[in-house]
Amino acid sequence: TQETLVLVKPDGVARGLTGAILARIEAKGYALVDIRLVEPDRERLEAHYAEHAGKPFYEPLLEFMMSGPSVAIRVAGNRVIEGFRSLAGATDPTTAAPGTIRGDYGRDWGLKVQQNLVHGSDSPESAARELAIWF
Ligand code: ATP
Repeated sequence: TQETLVLVKPDGVARGLTGAILARIEAKGYALVDIRLVEPDRERLEAHYAEHAGKPFYEPLLEFMMSGPSVAIRVAGNRVIEGFRSLAGATDPTTAAPGTIRGDYGRDWGLKVQQNLVHGSDSPESAARELAIWF
């Protein structure tokens, strides 16, 4: 079995979508192993988003991620990394397919940072690294 890090980002928490997102993870049959509400400092976010350092959206992304708490979830299941990214949908919430979390609840609000509700690790290496950052 595999583990992944899911984050319900500040927009998802502020909009009261945490429960709906957890329900989709559970309905798919994945296991919630650990869960915590986190107000990340800059250091934690710099570690999490190291690969994006220097990109134009990096600073706005960190500001957005410090705008309120996120819910960090350790999720387990067979092929859960790929499976959760499928549940989440494409990065851009405007074009994410209906039926996905981003497609059903997200849109482009005209802000600099795409507020796309969730994060999911993209590989086993990322999952191990990110789980150590958030838990
Ligand atoms: P995530 O890693 O959050 O699950 P992802 O893998 O689809 O989503 P990444 O390319 O890793 O996205 O980017 C990380 C986050 O940075 C995105 O979720 C989004 O919030 C933000 N982001 C990515 N690209 C852009 C962009 N071009 N403009 C604004 N924000 C962006």
